[in-house]
Amino acid sequence: MAIRLHFWGADQTVTGSSHHIECAGQNVLLDCGLFQGHRQDTADINSHLALSPDQLSGKAAPSLNAVVLSHAHIDHSGDLPLLAKQGYRGPIYTTPATIDLCTPMLKDAAHIQESDAEFIGKIRNRRAAAGAPPGPAPMQPLYTQDDATQATQLFRPFNLHQPQLLAGSTADAGFTITTTNAGHMLGSTNVLVEAVEKGQKVRLLFSGDVGRKNLPIIKDPDPAPAADYLIMESTYGDRLHAPMGDVKTKLAGLVKAVLARGGHIIAPVFAVERAQQVVLLLHQMVDAGEIPDFPIYVDSPLANAVTDVFKKHSEEWDAEACAFFHQGKDPFAWKNLHYTQTVQESKALNDLHVPFMVMAASGMCEAGRILHHLKNGIEDPRNLVLITGYQAQNTLGSKLVAGAKDVNIYGEPMRVRAQVESIDSLSGHADQQELLDWMAPVAPTLKKVFLVHGELPAQQVLKGKIEERYKLEVAIPKRGDRFEIG
Ligand SMILES: [Zn+2]
Repeated sequence: MAIRLHFWGADQTVTGSSHHIECAGQNVLLDCGLFQGHRQDTADINSHLALSPDQLSGKAAPSLNAVVLSHAHIDHSGDLPLLAKQGYRGPIYTTPATIDLCTPMLKDAAHIQESDAEFIGKIRNRRAAAGAPPGPAPMQPLYTQDDATQATQLFRPFNLHQPQLLAGSTADAGFTITTTNAGHMLGSTNVLVEAVEKGQKVRLLFSGDVGRKNLPIIKDPDPAPAADYLIMESTYGDRLHAPMGDVKTKLAGLVKAVLARGGHIIAPVFAVERAQQVVLLLHQMVDAGEIPDFPIYVDSPLANAVTDVFKKHSEEWDAEACAFFHQGKDPFAWKNLHYTQTVQESKALNDLHVPFMVMAASGMCEAGRILHHLKNGIEDPRNLVLITGYQAQNTLGSKLVAGAKDVNIYGEPMRVRAQVESIDSLSGHADQQELLDWMAPVAPTLKKVFLVHGELPAQQVLKGKIEERYKLEVAIPKRGDRFEIG
């Protein structure tokens, strides 16, 4: 027997996770992520990403039987609406928390697509009216909010640690999955795929994104289960994170200094997970008297919707978050924490003349309400811009972290006079050592490792470490590569 693996996304890059597996005539997709990057590059890749096996094989219409989603992040889930738009009506298996997260997140992703297309249309119309050349090429949204709704109706919940036979498969032919907690974000999983054909069985472990111990809110990762082959992420294959314990000390020092000089804290955050983590850390610090109880605003409708999902899924919380609950407190609410929803509420913060903190998306300062807050406060030396997440190359966030003194916000030149600090140890991704440790229990039974979801230089370093420590064969697939395992 053999399983055929077709790598179709997040290959030698960190975005667009999508892997097609086939056995006993059954076709399954592990993740269906959006490829994120510059508009021009992404449109073409995404339109060919939400694959049907028909497209891939060129054969007459074998159909996709099932999709398994490791977790809600858009680079793993963001092309599901496109799959629905292309006519897929089979099940998408994932955890209950992931289903509830994906509902607002996919709708938000569709809204961004629609707004982008509308924005480009406006530019073209304006240029046409002025008799100028048309400028950017016309753009169709990759999918709409209706497509996102259609995709969310295909979700089928499964429980961790319980084997799930996939649609179209039988106990003798096809796929069964069993999932474990990845400890990467709320609802995140590692997926163990057992493929059976002609009385033989092959076990393939898909890591999804590997999390870390001691992250705020969520439980630590489960140990990797036994398998014959491993598809593993490698985002930080060449890096070690700063120790987690330093976060509160650094945060307390920064907050107290800003309050003493009467400034504001402007914090770009990822609306999913990072916003909730920072809120919980601040709540703990206020309760412990480590920082004063001062006004804090979460200014992101998506973060607000996602926080409600976090509250609903307390089964995913770790002991620390549960302790809050058992003291009769809500980890994500206290008197001086405010969630703003409307544009008017957001704009009203501009007129607030007491020290406060505002968290807003996007996390890399590329779009959204954070740009208004930066425009309003970046030139005031009393203020602090607090970066808490990964900043991709060429984003405004990366320029601020690099110490740029002159930046453009909404096309307007601005002088960076505010203090800029970053706290980067809240990452949800395992670093090199944590990846090597996570795979230790599965290493003895492995025949081969496939590294995905990493930039090539990071992957090459990790490949060397795995070969050295575990004496295993390691492949770094390119997009479109096929392998037979079994
Ligand atoms: Zn992720």
